[in-house]
Amino acid sequence: MRLVIHGVVQGVGFRPTVHRIATDMGLDGRVRNDGGRVVVEVDGGHRDLLQRIMEELPPLASVESVELIDKDYRGPKGFSIMPSSAGAKGAGIPVDTAVCPSCLEEMSDPDDRRYGYPFTSCTDCGARFTLISDLPYDRAATALDPFPPCEDCRGEYASPGDRRFHHQTVCCPRCGPRYRLVHGGEEQRDRPVQSFAALLRSGCIGVAKSWGGMHICSTLGSLPRLREWYRREEKPFAVMVKDLDAARRFADPSEAELEALGSAQRPIVLVPKREGGGLDQASPGLDNVGLFLPYAGMQHLLFKELGEDALVMTSANVPGEPMMLDDGNVMSLGADAYLLHDQRILNRADDSVLRVYDGEAMFIRRSRGHTPAWMPAPGEGSVLALGAQENIAGAVAHGGRLYSTQHIGDADHIGVLDYLDDSLAHLRRLLDMENVDAVAMDMHPGYSNRRLGRRLGEENGVEPLEVQHHWAHAASLLVDNQVDAAAVLALDGSGYGDDGKAWGGEVLLSSLDGYRRVGHLRPFPLLGGEKAVHDIRRLCYAIDRMSGRENNMFDDKDSRVLDIMMGNSVETSSLGRVMDALSCYLGVCGRRSYDGEPAMKLESLLDRGMRAQGFGVTVSGGEVDSVSLLAAVMDSALRPEDKAYTVVSCLVDSMVDMAVDAAQREGLEHIGLSGGVSYNSAVCDIARRRIEGRGMKLLRHRRVPNGDGGVAVGQAAIALRRSG
Ligand SMILES: [Zn+2]
Ligand SMILES: [Zn+2]
Repeated sequence: MRLVIHGVVQGVGFRPTVHRIATDMGLDGRVRNDGGRVVVEVDGGHRDLLQRIMEELPPLASVESVELIDKDYRGPKGFSIMPSSAGAKGAGIPVDTAVCPSCLEEMSDPDDRRYGYPFTSCTDCGARFTLISDLPYDRAATALDPFPPCEDCRGEYASPGDRRFHHQTVCCPRCGPRYRLVHGGEEQRDRPVQSFAALLRSGCIGVAKSWGGMHICSTLGSLPRLREWYRREEKPFAVMVKDLDAARRFADPSEAELEALGSAQRPIVLVPKREGGGLDQASPGLDNVGLFLPYAGMQHLLFKELGEDALVMTSANVPGEPMMLDDGNVMSLGADAYLLHDQRILNRADDSVLRVYDGEAMFIRRSRGHTPAWMPAPGEGSVLALGAQENIAGAVAHGGRLYSTQHIGDADHIGVLDYLDDSLAHLRRLLDMENVDAVAMDMHPGYSNRRLGRRLGEENGVEPLEVQHHWAHAASLLVDNQVDAAAVLALDGSGYGDDGKAWGGEVLLSSLDGYRRVGHLRPFPLLGGEKAVHDIRRLCYAIDRMSGRENNMFDDKDSRVLDIMMGNSVETSSLGRVMDALSCYLGVCGRRSYDGEPAMKLESLLDRGMRAQGFGVTVSGGEVDSVSLLAAVMDSALRPEDKAYTVVSCLVDSMVDMAVDAAQREGLEHIGLSGGVSYNSAVCDIARRRIEGRGMKLLRHRRVPNGDGGVAVGQAAIALRRSG
């Protein structure tokens, strides 16, 4: 009998598992990698074997499908693992996962040869994507290539009963990479993690290299100094906590949040802060904070030595630039101490970030541990997609699958476009994708990744396809849920609209073949364009001018300048900007110091608010009059939290109503929610209640980020449909 098994089955200890089970069952036969699949040939065994394989899958493996072929095995007695054949590309590229409990046990056992060794890993755990340069997954194509295994490691690699049987990156203190401490101009190779912990404890700011990148870190006590040193006054920092118990002491995570925190991918999870938990300054003015658990061996060792249960952590980069890769560059940051190692980072991957809504994850950033997972693509062609301008992740469609790159960053920084280019090229190499049928990008004329789009188009002989920003959001939601069409509320900061205005409060009747804008918020001028995004008082000024309210936020001279701008500034229909304005009116935030700040700070107010009666919103010709509603509510005597809730719920409800009406006319059953504003739990709650109240089904993001990190997936899906 022959089994052909598809899925994430290579580089994850799959063949050794089959070997163990087949030997246990006394079967003759063999197992081999074949392309991206695993083929098992046995004499007899049949369904019992398959059932046991499925029951005893290694933790990192996942099976998508199995073909059963009735074909007799004729070969030697016993069961063997055949070496990889060339051309084993594509398919399941394994992701990085946290060091497993068995490896941790070895690391903490003084009698074990891997005692205290931070690079301990096995077929069940460790770095994969970040240290693979090519497929098939063999040591020569990993960052372990310069470290030939010692005799002991070779022995483990060759023993079918060992956890490290065929583990490509098997290593130990004798043969593997090593950490060193750089501090005060000196290098120290003896007990570097211990000394680094002591330095952090004494108030130092450190840089620690792990698998796919480097973190700047400090103790909670040194956070004020870190903020000053890193020139980051308000923007939240993530906090790594020692374990789940520590997470419960610092915060109030739900069951689903605890599960996400402890998952093998170890993402940063936004969780509610605990009063008096001591994390107020990690995310000033916000009710939640990003926590994550150690995933690399070094981080476990560090906590063991540190004597504290929390460390502030952030990707080591020059603000806005991609995370740093090499030891030389990172020194320019000017930290007090560096914990570095001699293993190259072949692929950077920032930490993934998610929040849990209604028991399920919404990805804010899909990166380490989740890259390069894939989903079924709506076509067979080969496509590259470049995303938007902020929070870029690229996407590649090939062979009926749609892959997203790791988080890349904001394209207005120089290094980011090179990183995007490299990441797309790397995925293409792993997938063996030679020809490109289409290149997709945003239609915004000012986005800096268009140059890359044009170059990639020229290289591949195709004209880049420009995709409207919110349609791409809607398409990413459709692909995420494998649904053909829906009426989608695309709610975000802004994206370039068909009419040249900045859209962002849109109701789009969408499929992958086209879309129709059936509703939107009333546009108001962004006084001075981008300036109004940072100085939010300008949003309020425009809204007040339009509704005849008085505005005292500027002196006479500035007011006169703004009055002139009223007639010649680009207009926006963005819900994100309305929420920014609300945030300013209500004294929550008047000047944005980081992306999303006003809306995030508004969230805690929204969570406490109630909807006041007597306020309605006028809709005419598909336009929701947000401006008049804002004026009326601001003139009322409501509590600030109720003002916030009333405005947001009136607007979201009326957009849902337009979506439902349009969907029903078209015979569709789904109303979707996408765009960065849809991370807001109050917005989700309001929309969900209204959608379900009207008997429709809510479509939410599950794998693809709601925000601009998901745009490339939508672009790729649309381009795929066009080119096929
Ligand atoms: Zn392990
Ligand atoms: Zn070794």
